Order: sequence, then C-alpha cells, then structure tokens
Amino acid sequence: MIARVSLEIALRKEFDYLIPPGLAGQVEAGSRVQVPFGARKVFGTVTALAEESAYANLRPIFKVIGAQTMVTPKVLQLARWIAEYYCCAPEIALKSVLPEAVRGKKETDEGWRKQLFARALPVVGELPKLAKRQQEVWNIIEERREILLTELLELAETTAATVRKLEDRGLVEIASQISERDPYAREHILPTQPLPLNPAQSAALERIKAAINAVGGTGVTPVVSGVAPETRSGENSPAPAIRRAAELNRPEALFHPNPNTFLLHGVTGSGKTEVYLQALAHALEQGKGAIVLVPEISLTPQTVERFKARFSSGKLQTLVAVLHSHLSAGERHDEWHKIRQGRARIVIGARSAIFAPVEPLGLIIVDEEHEHTYKQEEAPRYHARDVAIMRGQMENAVVVLGSATPSLESYYNCKKGKYTLLELPERVDNQKMPHVRVVDMRQAAYKEKGAPIFSPQLKEAIAQRLEKHEQTILFLNRRGYSTALQCPKCGYVAQCPNCSLALTYHRIEQRLSCHICGHNEKVPSVCPNEKCRNPAIRFAGTGTQKVEETLTKLFPDARVRRMDADTMKRKDDYRKTLGDFRTGKTDILVGTQMIAKGLHFPNVTLVGIIYADLALHQPDFRAGERTFQLLTQVAGRAGRGDVEGEVVVQAFTPFHPAIQYARRHDFTGFYEQEIEFREQLKYPPISRVALLTLKGRNEDKVKFSAEHLKRELEKKCSVRPVAEPDRATGSTLHNFSDLIISGPAPAPLLRAEQFYRYQIMLRTRAMSKLSQGLAKIIETLALPEDVTLAVDIDPVNLG
Ligand code: ADP
Ligand code: ZN
Repeated sequence: MIARVSLEIALRKEFDYLIPPGLAGQVEAGSRVQVPFGARKVFGTVTALAEESAYANLRPIFKVIGAQTMVTPKVLQLARWIAEYYCCAPEIALKSVLPEAVRGKKETDEGWRKQLFARALPVVGELPKLAKRQQEVWNIIEERREILLTELLELAETTAATVRKLEDRGLVEIASQISERDPYAREHILPTQPLPLNPAQSAALERIKAAINAVGGTGVTPVVSGVAPETRSGENSPAPAIRRAAELNRPEALFHPNPNTFLLHGVTGSGKTEVYLQALAHALEQGKGAIVLVPEISLTPQTVERFKARFSSGKLQTLVAVLHSHLSAGERHDEWHKIRQGRARIVIGARSAIFAPVEPLGLIIVDEEHEHTYKQEEAPRYHARDVAIMRGQMENAVVVLGSATPSLESYYNCKKGKYTLLELPERVDNQKMPHVRVVDMRQAAYKEKGAPIFSPQLKEAIAQRLEKHEQTILFLNRRGYSTALQCPKCGYVAQCPNCSLALTYHRIEQRLSCHICGHNEKVPSVCPNEKCRNPAIRFAGTGTQKVEETLTKLFPDARVRRMDADTMKRKDDYRKTLGDFRTGKTDILVGTQMIAKGLHFPNVTLVGIIYADLALHQPDFRAGERTFQLLTQVAGRAGRGDVEGEVVVQAFTPFHPAIQYARRHDFTGFYEQEIEFREQLKYPPISRVALLTLKGRNEDKVKFSAEHLKRELEKKCSVRPVAEPDRATGSTLHNFSDLIISGPAPAPLLRAEQFYRYQIMLRTRAMSKLSQGLAKIIETLALPEDVTLAVDIDPVNLG
C-alpha cells in the first residue's frame, strides 16, 4: 500500500510513500507520520491511501505518531475546504487543524508527560510487620492505590528511600507512567443545576432541541474534493441529503438556507449562556458531543467554570476539555487527547477549537459571534464562525451563533431566511437595561479650554458611586499614557522608524513605544527637530495610564486598578485583578477592550466610556458597526445586580447614529440604517470582499507590483457575459456579473514593521468562484523577489 502525504515544508505538493510491513494497518488517511525527505526526517499528514503510485523507488514511512489517526476524515475534509475557499496552500490549512503540541516535534516526543507513581501491589496473606514510618507510608499508598511519588513524599513527609524499602519488600511498585495534566486541577468547582427558563429562553431552547433531534443519524458523507458538483436538475432532483452533500463543495453553501443554523440574539444579561448549557445537555443525552467557541478574551476562568460546573456531576457527567493559548503545550496536548479519545464530550475554546476532533458532533455554539478575533490574521486566514457553519453542514451538527450585537452578516442571513433568528429581548428577572447618558464633550472642551478626560457629569457620577460603595468601570480603548509626543512650536510628532504611526508615550516606563512593531525609545527632553530644539515638547491625547493617574488625583481615597496589555503581562494577572474587583477590593477598574466582554459583576452600577468616538474615525467600512457593538457591550457591564445601572458616554460626535442607536439599545434600528449604507456602497454583507495586500521594503516596487496584479485581474476576471478561452493558457476566463476591483491604494497603515503595503480590494457575491480564480492567477503571477502577496478572503481588518 502507498500513502499520500502532505508535508509542512513543501507547498502545494503531496508525496507518495510506501507503508512498510511493520506499519501495515496502522496508517490511514489523517495519520500523522514521519518520513524521509532528502536527507531529513520530516512530519506530515496522510491525506489518502492508494494501491499504486506513478513514481518508482518510493521510500518507506519511518513512523506513525500516536495510536489513533490525528486528523479525522471530517476534519480533513474541512481543511480542504479552508484551503480552497481561503485561497491558501493545503499544507497550511492542514497544519492549523492540529495544535502544535500534538503534531509531534522531536522523534521520541509523543507529548505525554511521564512521572513516577507508587502503586500498591496485592498483598498475599498477612501484611508483614512494618516499621512505624513505613507503615504510615503504606497506609497512604494502600488507601490511594496509586499515587504520584512526589505527592506521596510531600504528604507523608518522607524520603524516596522509605518508599524504596516497601518496594523491596514486594508491597509497592514504583513505575513511570503517563500522568495527565489538568489545567483546572486546582479549581474547586461546585456543580450547578439547570435553571427554570423564562418563556423566551424556553422557546429558543425548544427550537434548538428540535433541530438536534431532527438531524439524528450521522453526518453527510464526505465528498471528494475537486469533483465538480453539478448535480442540479429539475424533475429528478436528488434526495436532500445527496444534494446537500453535493453543495458542500461550494463555499456558498454558507449562504444556502440552512435550518440547522440559529442566531440567538439576546441582550446582555438575557441568559444566553443558560440556553447554551441546556442545549449542550440535550446534545449529550442524544449521544452527541459539542464544541463551544468563545473569543480568547472571554476565556476567563469564570466562563470556563460555568460550563465545567454544569457537567461536572450528575448523570450527564462528562469531561469538559478546554483549548486556548494560555495553556502550556503539555496541557494542550493532554486536553486534545481527552477529546480525541472520546473522554471529553464538550470542548470549550477559542478560534482553533473549531477543529477539535469531537465525534459524533451534534452541536456547535459560537458565543459573541460578532467578535473579530474569530478571524485568524495569518494564513490560513479563516473565520472560525464561518468554518463552524461549514463544519455543521458537513457533519449534520446544529450551529448556534449567539450575540447581543450580531454581526451584520449573520443578521442579514436571518433576514434572508438562511438562518433562524431566536430572540431574548429582555434581561433575566426583568432587570432594566441601563440608562445611557451621552455627554457632548465639545461643550466640556469649550468650558475647560481643552478636552478634559472627565466631564463634570462623569466626575459627579463616580463620586456618587464611591459614596455608596458601588463599583465603577471606566473604558478607553487606548493603552499607554498619551497618544503622541508633539512639539507645539514646530509641529514635530515622534514617529516609529518602522511604521507610519506616531509613538505612544508610556509614562511609568518613561519610554515611547510603537503599538504595531514594539519599537521603543527614550523620551527626548527637547524637540528632536534640529532647527527647533524646543524644550517644551508635550504629549497629546489620552491613554489608560493617564486616566488612571488623573483618577487618583481626583479621588485620592479610591482604590483604582488598571487592566490593559501593559499591566496584564503574566498568566495570573488577569484573574487576580478580576478577583480583587469581584471581592470589592477595588472601587474603580480602568481598562481597554479587555474589560468589555462577558464579565459579570453585580456591584457595578456605573460604566463610563471616556472617548466613544475613538473607534468611529477609522478608515474601515465597519467603523460604525464596531462602535455600536463596543458601546453596547461595555454598557452591558452596568447594572447586572439589583441596582439599576447607569452608563455615561463621552463623545465629540454625540449625534452619530452608532452612538445614538446604542444609547437607545436599538439594534434593529442600527441594522436598518447601516444595511442601507452597505447596500449603496456594495460592501458586505451585500457582497463579499477579498483583500490583496502587497508588501515589501521598496515602495516603488510594491506599487508597481500592485499595478501589475491589477492588470492581471482585469484580464482574467472580466465582467463579461460569456466564457471565452484565454488564448495564452487555453483556460477559461472567469466571468463575474458583479465584480468590483478597486485600488491599488496605499493601505491605511502604509508602512508597518519596515514594510510598505499596497492593497487591491475585490468585491463580488460569488466568492468561492473568485477564490478559485485567484488561486490560478497567483500560481502564475511573477512578483519581484522582495515583494510578497497576502490574500485575505472576508477580511475583518482592512488596515
Ligand atoms: P448572557 O449570556 O445573555 O449575557 P447570562 O447567561 O450570563 O446572560 O445570564 C445572566 C445571569 O442570569 C446569570 O447569572 C445567570 O445565571 C442568570 N440566569 C440566566 N437564566 C436564568 C433563569 N432562567 N432564571 C434565573 N436566572 C437566570
Ligand atoms: Zn513600529
């Protein structure tokens, strides 16, 4: 037998290897293997088995990694779809479906941790008389039957020599064994019971349960990639399951009516999580497993505990595996294998957890589906929400997207009847939505001759909370002390030498630093401009450090803590800061978007948003949407207890629709006006976008290459009614009725990390067709050596 192997080091190629007799029966599609490649040994994934090969003198596979295939056939299928749709090499897509920790690194390394255990052996006849120390140690071992040696020594306050004596007497065996790491071993989690649901929650849950019951059986049979699925016909249309299977090869399947995909739109605090928990329980009862995706930033111990607590006891008891970037490589390895071995039936994790090998998969939940962290910003540039929908279709699993502020894409798909909309319009226990006050900062700036950080209204509101011993959250999406170092005399602004961006002043560290590339330098004492040398060089703009400092001056007795990327450097910082806030050791928490999500503190009655316009003035068609989402999410942190919450929004453009609709908690109003704007300019969700970015150190070359690429695109992807063969290649030109090609233009951030960037934006409804076309164009595109091209399908970041 021959195995076809995809290697991480050779792009867009697969290689045939012999399966040696010693490995017969151990190699399957999806196995991780180690093979010879030239003089090296490399790792790869088997994509298929074959009877024979077109090549002679095949070399044998060295080794199979792990006892089970690593990539299940369904995940393999998903990886193929990602490569096609996101226009990337299949190896890159394959690589991303397995965590680094299980892919295998060193030859001997299987990733398991082996440790010494002491185990009680069966006692034949009477227990021999033991010395007092030995007896004490034996009692512990006998009670536990098996115990980690280090733990035993600590517990018995003894040395290994004593245990060895027991071993010599034939009572105990000391042996090295795999010991599983459990990242949550120290948590003491109390089990919870399902809550009685309110009518809106019940109605939503019933729809989801019915869908889980309806899909029943196993998933759709995987289709072999690359086969043109033109199976449409009139009268004799194939059975639904077959037709769906055929459509799977088209990424537009995302946009086909799909009764198994739900959008759970529930205001903050409406009890979405309780609906997820009960839907998960139902999936387990049906013998299915599930994946829960949450944004990395909300993967707090608090969130994970809510899931673990529900499934840690009772008849549905199962292991909940957790996958995220704060785990050690070893922990990640063990969590992944718990899933692969079927011991953990529920997986909760960030973006890449969508590839978890859960079988059979019954339910996928994507919480905070609007979050842009679901998009991976390096190849493969997939969007985990869209991959979830695709995986749901491939495996016949129900998909629930949840959010208080759905993305325009998902809401639009509901309007078009493609997903089913479920709504939780009210907070649990009829708590009121917080009262939102928008403060016009232009007035405050006029009165105080310059923009203050705190308007009188916000100052007053904070003072009241301090008096009543209630807590406050202050939000500003900009870390550091001030935004820029500027000379008031000559206008000089300290710029990053590598990026087209002003440096941020960090006062505590007394440094200027670049938030793109990390460059940092000393603060100059005079204006660096040779002709100026003004000693009165000043800082403009405000960051979280400055908010914290000003706050401690205004309210010297208040206990203030700051939470941003600068203060949250160590693994435990996040949980400690939140812990102190929860237990009332902190009065005011100042932070960046880190504090905007999913946190639930009953004693917070005031949320202040320092500058609500910050996100509005970005060169991105989603700027309004982002601002609306951010304001709504941050506001949702207020008044989650018995006392009604208040939100003070400070803005320089207080009448902007994104701010006004957020003030009125009016999502549909916002949607209606925003969709009109997208319609006019043919932006998503009306169309789909592909963003091509060319990058290089020489600006002229980058610009020239971008213009060259644009001409190629115009030649090969024309807007023409009929297909014509391309004379040069003999292949067919791609025809689009709606393709818009714009650019090339300098990227909003023209220079980053010493590279100049130019962009071309493509818009069409037929994105999968465009992806295929792009793949072909890129294959033959001649670029200068030092210019690279990145293709981003459905980008969320236009920078
Ligand atoms: P969301 O995820 O929509 O923001 P949560 O699920 O966090 O809302 O719910 C907010 C709070 O309400 C939580 O403390 C939760 O335990 C509680 N809760 C949810 N559903 C119910 C219910 N049916 N009855 C009572 N309390 C509930
Ligand atoms: Zn920089």
